[in-house]
Amino acid sequence: MGDASFFYCSQGCSSEKLELFREVRYRCPRCQGLLEVGHDLDALKSTPPEVWKATFDARVGRTEWPFGSGVWGKKEWVCPEIDDNNITSFFEGNSNLFWAARLGAELGVEDLWIKLCGNSHTGSFKDLGMTVLVSAVAEMRSRGLPIQAIACASTGDTSAALAAYAAAANIPSVVFLPENKITPAQLTQPLAHGARVLSIRSDFDGCMALVKAVAEKPESPIYLANSMNPLRIEGQKTVAIEMVQQFDWRVPDWVIIPGGNLGNVSALGAGFDMLEAMGITTKRPRICVGQAERANPLYRSFLTGFAEFEPIEAQETAASAIRIGNPVSIHRAIKSLRRYDGVVEQATEDELNEAAARGDKTGLFNCPHTGVALAALEKLIARGLVERHHRVVVVSTAHGLKFSEFKANYHGGTVGNYRNQPLSIEATPEAVFKALGL
Ligand SMILES: *Cc1c(COP(=O)(O)O)cnc(C)c1O
Ligand SMILES: [Zn+2]
Repeated sequence: MGDASFFYCSQGCSSEKLELFREVRYRCPRCQGLLEVGHDLDALKSTPPEVWKATFDARVGRTEWPFGSGVWGKKEWVCPEIDDNNITSFFEGNSNLFWAARLGAELGVEDLWIKLCGNSHTGSFKDLGMTVLVSAVAEMRSRGLPIQAIACASTGDTSAALAAYAAAANIPSVVFLPENKITPAQLTQPLAHGARVLSIRSDFDGCMALVKAVAEKPESPIYLANSMNPLRIEGQKTVAIEMVQQFDWRVPDWVIIPGGNLGNVSALGAGFDMLEAMGITTKRPRICVGQAERANPLYRSFLTGFAEFEPIEAQETAASAIRIGNPVSIHRAIKSLRRYDGVVEQATEDELNEAAARGDKTGLFNCPHTGVALAALEKLIARGLVERHHRVVVVSTAHGLKFSEFKANYHGGTVGNYRNQPLSIEATPEAVFKALGL
């Protein structure tokens, strides 16, 4: 094995390169800090930017395994150490970059785009990271490492992705879910894939602490799949690369993304960093993270200029996938936000409800987290940070169909500005015209 990619300490305590798949590790052996995946950038740079662009463009949607995937189409930048035979892929990525012309016109931003990452095998962007993680586990198992199962704590979407990829790879999976805090669709997904589902009487942060304790026990046969594992970030970073590719290799002015455990925003930063390092881009976008007001530790830290950070106890929010009070990737996220002139916004329940419904009315079908990001966009416009001529990308993180109760509650409620109800009528043409007022 070469050292085309490797782990290194995120805290910078040494410049040692650690082999990716020789042993199971999640932390720096010296300081116990989290790890990052690094790449041999000098070797990658010997390929000119024009050749990278042409190579990646030529692979989109084609059949040669595994390059048709939006993640594996960029394998050299993601995880070149994995043998193609060990890859489990559902051809994730290559998701629609939707030109939200009608919503943009309403909001006064003409160049508004929604990156529909929820249009994916398990209905969320988590597939982008999970294909790398599960493939890495298959690689480690093929090299003789004694991993018997993969486990994660989840607010619903990570566990759905883990269960599906692990099932396809024929590796047992275990998911730690906070009891009664995820949607019925999200609970059904890992059950259907045959995962061992543990319903924990705690919140997400409690599940996270538990799965970490289990996976980090010496000689544990259980491998940890949460985004503190940097292999997932490598897959998720392709969302930044892919959106630039979809704009014919041009960088937008703003990217807005909902944040919980904050792997997401770290991954965005990593993707844009890679594009710049390879000489493909020179401009940097600004990044905005949207949080629910009821689970807003990053927002609170932002108000101190990131000088302070305090974990909080997250409260109930419709944006249940980002109901997280103690984000694992907080330090990576702050680093990313500093580099990308970042801002953090928050949305109340009313604001996220209205923003999601307003988007739906223009043809989207938003999950509540995308509602948070859309509410953040409205605030950035009101503050004059997003201007009429800016090209803006809102990352939509999950498919609205996973959150049908959220929508049913809104439309069946009494306060929403966009609520809509079925009309119950007799089966006659007259009743139809009468009901329609035509
Ligand atoms: C996981 C998730 C997020 C948050 O991503 P982080 O990397 O945890 O910040 C946002 N939206 C949805 C739908 C998710 O599943
Ligand atoms: Zn270290």
